[in-house]
Amino acid sequence: MGKRDLDTAFFGQPKGLSTLFFTEMWERFSYYGMRAILLFYMYYAVTKGGLGMDQTTAASIMSIYGSLVYLSTLVGGWLSDRVWGSRKTVFYGGVLIMLGHIVLALPAGVSALYASIALIVVGTGLLKPNVSSMVGGLYSVEDRRRDAGFSIFVFGINIGSFLAPLLVPWAAQGFGFNVFGTEWNFHAGFSLAAVGMFLGLVQYALGGRKYLSTDSLTPNDPIDKGDLLNIIKWVVIGIVAIAIALAAMAGVGQLNVNNVITLLTILAIALPIYYFVMMLRSPKVTKIERSRVKAYIPLFFAAAIFWGIEESGSVVLALFAEQRTVLHVGSWHFAAANFQSLNPLFIMILTPVFVWLWEHWKKQPSAPGKFAAGLVFAGLSYMWMALPGMLFGTSGRVSPLWLVGSWFLVEIAEMLISPIGLSITTKLAPNAFRSQMMSMWFMADATGQAVNAQIVKFYSSGTEIQYFLAVGVVSVIFGIIMFALVKKINVLMEGIH
Ligand code: GLU
Ligand code: ASP
Repeated sequence: MGKRDLDTAFFGQPKGLSTLFFTEMWERFSYYGMRAILLFYMYYAVTKGGLGMDQTTAASIMSIYGSLVYLSTLVGGWLSDRVWGSRKTVFYGGVLIMLGHIVLALPAGVSALYASIALIVVGTGLLKPNVSSMVGGLYSVEDRRRDAGFSIFVFGINIGSFLAPLLVPWAAQGFGFNVFGTEWNFHAGFSLAAVGMFLGLVQYALGGRKYLSTDSLTPNDPIDKGDLLNIIKWVVIGIVAIAIALAAMAGVGQLNVNNVITLLTILAIALPIYYFVMMLRSPKVTKIERSRVKAYIPLFFAAAIFWGIEESGSVVLALFAEQRTVLHVGSWHFAAANFQSLNPLFIMILTPVFVWLWEHWKKQPSAPGKFAAGLVFAGLSYMWMALPGMLFGTSGRVSPLWLVGSWFLVEIAEMLISPIGLSITTKLAPNAFRSQMMSMWFMADATGQAVNAQIVKFYSSGTEIQYFLAVGVVSVIFGIIMFALVKKINVLMEGIH
């Protein structure tokens, strides 16, 4: 047994897990703290401390931003495998993320917003996939603590995501002291997000030196000169193509935020299609592996619909919280942004319940069956939100319990899809495409949010009943179709459960 296997310093896990746990906890703290107030920062009037954008554009930007953050993990995974190794890639990512929050902490308007988005998209792409894969790297193949290690790591994610939507909006309101003269100073909130990422970086740098293996300092599959030139060629072609597309849009007077968002939506839908076709046609993929990739297609589709609904919590449900919800219980007042804590709170509450369930339920459904049920729950979480409008009209405010109920339902769906999906993705991956397949999992989220960036334009208080019903029913219907396909998908999975 190697020295690393004996290390049980962190809840019975290697000490390196503590370093990665706190890195990711702080990174998610900064990300979800920023997102909890960003929507409001964008559309609040300038006199209220916002940028005064129109609400529809703001909602659409929130979604495409969320999409790009996960799309860019493709680049981060690649850079780590072939150029920097995971340790440095994560560090560079963290620095870019912190800079992204600092830019928003300055009162520099719309251009700062776009600069911040660019920094955080690239930074998260570098950090997120590699910090997770380093968790896997802490354990030898035989080490049975791996699953428990991942559960602890995911708990860290949720602690960060839970605390931030409470603390960051509070900072943006001067911690309850009337220091800003206005109700909101969003820049103060973004500063706290930057501080969070800074703390994450400091402990990553200190802990990493002591507890992370030196393997993580070098790439697994270092790039050679020929490949490098080829890549540079394609990057240049890509940049030129984008520049031409933007110039053409400008030429016909169509270069605006909405059209750029549409272009990015198309990209986020085209990329997974390209990946599936490539994997299915690759000579490196065996016949059995090809069948498993086919089985993954409906699972990907389901995951995209689920993430579309889950991620709309920081957009559509955030609007509902701000505009349609009573923001106090008795004398206890809270901010609309605080509702974002419900998602990770329910994850922390429900995880032990589901761990118990999967251990004890003998005839439990297979992964596709759980996905089907997940889609039904996700759909119900939306259909539930059509009720307050139907019962009381869409102009007043309703009890916060409506939102609490919706998040409860969507988190049951998350329990049925997110951890199950992560593990089935690794099992169905063809050998030659292990890390790309992991990126496909994040891409499902990116695709779901890219679709949101388009449909969210139809959401307003006036259309909420139709919106929640339409999207909810689509998810339920796909859930039912998925139930009908379970047997077929199981056959295609070729012995994987
Ligand atoms: N919400 C989770 C996180 O921030 C999972 C996102 C995903 O897997 O797409 O880590
Ligand atoms: N559900 C998200 C992720 O697991 C967290 C969030 O949206 O706050 O962890």
